[in-house]
Amino acid sequence: MKKTDLVNSIIKIVGRDRTVHEETELKLYSYDSSFLSSRNRFCPDVVALPRSTAEVSAIMKMASDNSIPVTPRGAGSGETCGCLPVRGGIVLDLSPWNTIEEVDAPNMQVLARPGVVHSRLNDHLEQYGLFFPPDPGSTRMCTLGGMVANNSSGMRAVKYGVTEQYILGLEVVLPGGEIVTTGGTNCRALKNVSGINLTKLFVGSEGTLGVITRIRLRVWPRPRARGLAVACFSDLDLAPGAVLDVYRAGILPSAVEILDHSAIRAVNLYRPEINLPPAEAILIFELDGNPASIEWEGREIASLLKKSASGVEWSTDPERVKALWQGRSVVAAAAARLKPDGTRVFAGEDICVPLDRVAESLRGIKQLSEKHSITAVSYGHIGDGNIHTALIINPDDPGEVDRLDLVVDGIHRLAIELGGTTTGEHGVGLVRSAYSPAEHGNAVNVMKNIKNALDPKGIMNPGKIF
Ligand SMILES: Cc1cc2nc3c(=O)[nH]c(=O)nc-3n(C[C@H](O)[C@H](O)[C@H](O)COP(=O)(O)OP(=O)(O)OC[C@H]3O[C@@H](n4cnc5c(N)ncnc54)[C@H](O)[C@@H]3O)c2cc1C
Repeated sequence: MKKTDLVNSIIKIVGRDRTVHEETELKLYSYDSSFLSSRNRFCPDVVALPRSTAEVSAIMKMASDNSIPVTPRGAGSGETCGCLPVRGGIVLDLSPWNTIEEVDAPNMQVLARPGVVHSRLNDHLEQYGLFFPPDPGSTRMCTLGGMVANNSSGMRAVKYGVTEQYILGLEVVLPGGEIVTTGGTNCRALKNVSGINLTKLFVGSEGTLGVITRIRLRVWPRPRARGLAVACFSDLDLAPGAVLDVYRAGILPSAVEILDHSAIRAVNLYRPEINLPPAEAILIFELDGNPASIEWEGREIASLLKKSASGVEWSTDPERVKALWQGRSVVAAAAARLKPDGTRVFAGEDICVPLDRVAESLRGIKQLSEKHSITAVSYGHIGDGNIHTALIINPDDPGEVDRLDLVVDGIHRLAIELGGTTTGEHGVGLVRSAYSPAEHGNAVNVMKNIKNALDPKGIMNPGKIF
């Protein structure tokens, strides 16, 4: 199909106002938050901004009839080139389709369209005393569609789990244009084991199996209070053991975070007034729930940590809790301070390893960064072994970019060697597809068979995952 015919077909379906085809505007759709997307320009031929399931269905039918690739896109905050049209064709920008259709508070669930931004949903739910627990750091950007497609989570996954646990049902437009509803989309049961679990098939499928057009998700009561314990360690190896001590005491914090030596240094350079102690590691334990139980559990954690930590502070005072969180909340922005001409790039940033291999993985990352002279700052969700390493480079220095690639490859291989995964939260997309065989063995063939069954023409977000 000629490009002008393709553009006209899209205009016919969604109208001129919701069709993008000018070269300069199309470039806006050629990146996400990954470093790889700044090194390659994957431009669509046309972008459609649909506002109804019927429009999405008509676009998919037309694309299928003409074998044109289609890539769904939310906010473009992904770190894997997932929403980029690596084979051109159509991008579906679902971000403006952001209606919260229903909050069914008595039944603890919400029905929403894919473009709803995560923080907006939670702000809206506050009046009902409810919240949607998965909490990506990109809360003010990412859309529910992107979260479902990537099965996103965040620092509170240690207690609340990941997106898939909250998705009751989905409306999905299949690559040929057929509309299906999975699980409990059309019912209000909070539990549903009827039939093969198609909802879980689409959650985490990264836009390769269909377009998510409506989401029914469960929500939970908002916790009434929070408390925070911060502990410093003079030896990195003591930190994972301290986390285990807390779990063994029967306490499940709502977040357990780590800053390593490099992260502590970066925070102190960026915001000297935070003045973190010069430790080898800092652990942050957050508790949430009702005030009495938090108080008891917090004091218990503080006394457990005193055995191995060089210093511990516990507080439930909201102002103090906010101040104690500061070191963790600025670390991503602070990381680049360790290299004056450097920029933080998102690459090799999301490995997840068994809890008892976290110290080993942090040491391995440090060795790789020293060997290849690439600045690395590590922090993350130690509670479930998810390490976010910020790699800082001068992107205009080709030698540094080559060395970065070696470090990134080393980090990914290290994760697999340690019995972990290359990605705990951000997904595979294009940037980690080379590791799929090492992680999944012949299960990759089963994934491919499922993909071929649903998308025989291979038009749905091609080039990703496999
Ligand atoms: C500063 C920062 C912090 C981050 N922190 C976290 C974090 O803590 N945890 C975490 O998990 N992630 C995090 N991320 C990554 C990212 O925000 C998440 O993966 C997010 O869920 C992506 O949502 P999005 O709307 O931006 O999706 P996009 O980036 O637009 O797309 C992501 C994938 O979803 C697919 N997709 C999007 N919408 C649909 C749809 N309606 N139907 C089918 N497929 C669709 C796309 O094709 C693509 O494969 C972070 C990113 C940044 C920049």
